[in-house]
Amino acid sequence: MKITKVEALVLRLTDEEVKKMGEVPANLERTGDYMFYRDGNEEAVIVRIETDEGIDGIGEVDMAGNVVQGIVNSPPQATWFRAWEEVLLGENPLEVGYLWEKMYRESGMYGRRGIITNILSGLDCALWDITGKYYKQPVYKLIGGGGAGTATPYMSFNRFGKTEQEIIDKCDRVKKSNFRAAKFHNHPIGIDDKKALKFVELARNQLGDGIEMMLDAANHYHDAKEAIKFAHDIEPYNPYFLEAPLSADNLDGYARLSSSTTVKIAAGEEQTTRFMYEELMKRGKVDILQPDTTWAGGITEVMRIGRMAYDHGVLCIPHCYKSYVGLASNLQVVAALPNAPFCECPTSPQPLAKDLTNEKLQPESDGKIHLSGKPGLGVTLNRDIVEKYRYPK
Ligand SMILES: [Mg+2]
Repeated sequence: MKITKVEALVLRLTDEEVKKMGEVPANLERTGDYMFYRDGNEEAVIVRIETDEGIDGIGEVDMAGNVVQGIVNSPPQATWFRAWEEVLLGENPLEVGYLWEKMYRESGMYGRRGIITNILSGLDCALWDITGKYYKQPVYKLIGGGGAGTATPYMSFNRFGKTEQEIIDKCDRVKKSNFRAAKFHNHPIGIDDKKALKFVELARNQLGDGIEMMLDAANHYHDAKEAIKFAHDIEPYNPYFLEAPLSADNLDGYARLSSSTTVKIAAGEEQTTRFMYEELMKRGKVDILQPDTTWAGGITEVMRIGRMAYDHGVLCIPHCYKSYVGLASNLQVVAALPNAPFCECPTSPQPLAKDLTNEKLQPESDGKIHLSGKPGLGVTLNRDIVEKYRYPK
């Protein structure tokens, strides 16, 4: 089997739909309100790989579409700046590990981290999708998983809320669903901690027994001592974890924070490749790594990160806030790792997040998503949504 085509499919909400969300205020950074306006699902980027045997694969990239298209399909340049279409064409898609190394090596001068790894991620997932379809197996079984293939998602709210009623409504939504865990994000955590503490207490009481509560500080604390104080204050409410209290670069701050509280500290949604996660784990001493298969290096790299975490007694709970294509690739990894008790599950109302696939990946009454047993990633694109939002037209 040979790869015959590599493309980046960019989908965008219409200008009218984006306008309806309102203007982003100039002082957004200070208010910490950025997730109140746009949540990253105004655009979806899917990479597709076709083969000469009629099997194709898809993967999601959590990155701006025009950047992805530029790297995937740019005209030939120097050996170490090669577009990945050129790197992959004619290769056997079943040789996923070899192709990961080839992409990483032959794009070395693009930077080896960040954007370049984000794009490699989607291509790696698409290669795994093809491999699963070829062997008629779901991916989790090909990467070390067994059994029925289950993963426990947590419902991820991209904002905590502005009023108590908003929090009560969110908790009601969780209780009426099959989810057994929920994460509240951002404002007022790190912006107005007195208010945040009241909201934490309210959410804990509203969720009741049997539902875990996670908190995401979205990097709002300026130094470790502020974060340590908040972590101490929330200990009585027993959150499952406190995510990203500090800048991703403040590794020594993370180490001080982690050793000062009984709350598990999670971090890493911004990192890429096992090399950055190793630093976060060994120097930052965090309890939970949060790589994303649409971002950190694909299924291949997130499995390496998850295994490395396991070897050091650390948990791996993937970040995920795009469509069900990205969720599907993250779930495969969670189903295959022994140290991945949860996976983030987005709640974006945008059609590009919730309607992009024909399959809706939701937990059953046991709180778990049961991977369908369908080969590959197990999801297919909704052609109507693709045609409606294809960009440019
Ligand atoms: Mg987060």
